Amino acid sequence: MTAHITYQLLIEVTRPVRVTVGRLGQFTFPAGRYVYTGSARRNFEARVARHLRHAKALRWHIDYLLAATEVCVVGVRRYVDEECAINRATPGSLPVPGFGASDCRAGCGSHLKYLG
Ligand SMILES: [Zn+2]
Repeated sequence: MTAHITYQLLIEVTRPVRVTVGRLGQFTFPAGRYVYTGSARRNFEARVARHLRHAKALRWHIDYLLAATEVCVVGVRRYVDEECAINRATPGSLPVPGFGASDCRAGCGSHLKYLG
C-alpha cells in the first residue's frame, strides 16, 4: 500500500529576502508567515526531515526558499486528504505564481501561500 500523505510546512521569514527560485526567477519574499503544501507517496518522514535540513541539493522550489538564512520552518502538519484540496482550503495570497505547482493539475496557481 502506498498511502499518499499530504504535509504543510509552516514557514517564517524573519525579514524580507530575495531568493532565486530555480527557473521561476528571482522574487522578494516579504517578512511574515507562509504555508507550503506538498505530498509524498513514500518515505514521508525522510521528506519532511529533508525539508528541515539546511544543507542539501536544491531540487524543488521550496528548497530554494528554505535555503535562505532568513527563512525557517516553524511547524509541520500532516493530512490524509489530497494535497491540492488542502492547499485550496488554506487562506492566503500567492506570492510566487507556479511555486511548487509544477505537478499540480488542479489549477491551484501556487502551493506556497503567504499569510502575512
Ligand atoms: Zn494544486
